[in-house]
Amino acid sequence: MTAGPREPVEQVEFDHDIVIVGGGPAGCSAGIFTARAGLDTAIFDRGRSSLKQCAHLENFLGFPAGIDIESFYERIHDHARTAGCEFVADLVEAVERTDEGDGFVVTPAEGDSHTARRVVAATRYDGEYLRGLDDDEAMFETKRYGEEEYERFDREYADREGRTPVDGLYVASPSAAVDMQAIMAAGRGARVAHRLIADSRIAEGWWEAVADRSDWVRRRAELDEEWTDRRRWVEWFDNRYAADAPVESDSERYERVRSAVIDVGRASYIDPAEITARKTTGQETLASYLDTEAVLDSIDDERIREYLDSTAERTAGEP
Ligand SMILES: Cc1cc2nc3c(=O)[nH]c(=O)nc-3n(C[C@H](O)[C@H](O)[C@H](O)COP(=O)(O)OP(=O)(O)OC[C@H]3O[C@@H](n4cnc5c(N)ncnc54)[C@H](O)[C@@H]3O)c2cc1C
Repeated sequence: MTAGPREPVEQVEFDHDIVIVGGGPAGCSAGIFTARAGLDTAIFDRGRSSLKQCAHLENFLGFPAGIDIESFYERIHDHARTAGCEFVADLVEAVERTDEGDGFVVTPAEGDSHTARRVVAATRYDGEYLRGLDDDEAMFETKRYGEEEYERFDREYADREGRTPVDGLYVASPSAAVDMQAIMAAGRGARVAHRLIADSRIAEGWWEAVADRSDWVRRRAELDEEWTDRRRWVEWFDNRYAADAPVESDSERYERVRSAVIDVGRASYIDPAEITARKTTGQETLASYLDTEAVLDSIDDERIREYLDSTAERTAGEP
């Protein structure tokens, strides 16, 4: 046992739990995880983009012949929206502390300011809007290009999980080396989101050992009969975490956290009907992106004939 009971400190008093600056691969990936974890997430997206300079994306997993950048952007934005993110098409000009010193005020070029408990920077080229938070002057490094000196955001300002010396500020991009490819930037966004989700749970009374939970969807068939009983989950939690928990196992905080962890675990299992329903929705959603002519071109005549024949057989004799 270490510290005594700690009451939850996070109250809903900001416009958003999280503002992500940048809706490229790093920002959208981070947002998908934070929104799925139930955190109110807004993504600001406008301005200079690395990905929009790419002519055709050919090395992102899942697109065997590559994908054009416009379609890729549409899909990653739709994915983040489906997960629950709100998009704001505005350029962030400044991120500063609130007057109370807790959380941040995000000021865009055109619209109203938004407040957020935590901010994730996900802008490969730009970090200038964070300068107001740089009290220690550690955010920017001086580089030399020929005779000229210039300043740029330090790629190693954040640690490997995206945390920075500014409490509540995370950096998914720019970061050393990992943002060189879109899929690496997406991976970095996911990792930073995991850290942020764990930190926000810790602020609600969870502790490190239980806070970092994976976002998995599992088959209910894999669940033995005994695990359908919530008491089995309670037993599992107690065996695994009680001894090292920072509070007594009969405390309100312990029971609250245990209950929340069990809820997350149990909700991750889905039954065969739900798996089929999600598969159908997944396929229909993919189909909705496809160009009609490309779809028709990809269907060879023989398959069309087979389809028409089978339809004719089925409807034969009908009035
Ligand atoms: C010419 C070129 C070709 C490339 N080709 C490939 C390739 O073939 N394959 C590959 O994997 N990678 C390629 N890359 C690299 C790839 O673009 C990056 O690795 C990846 O895009 C980084 O993702 P990100 O989310 O960190 O940043 P970005 O892609 O730059 O996304 C940042 C987003 O934030 C927005 N933004 C910026 N500033 C602000 C602000 N102040 N407020 C609000 N929004 C803001 C931007 O509009 C943008 O949408 C290429 C890069 C270039 C330059």
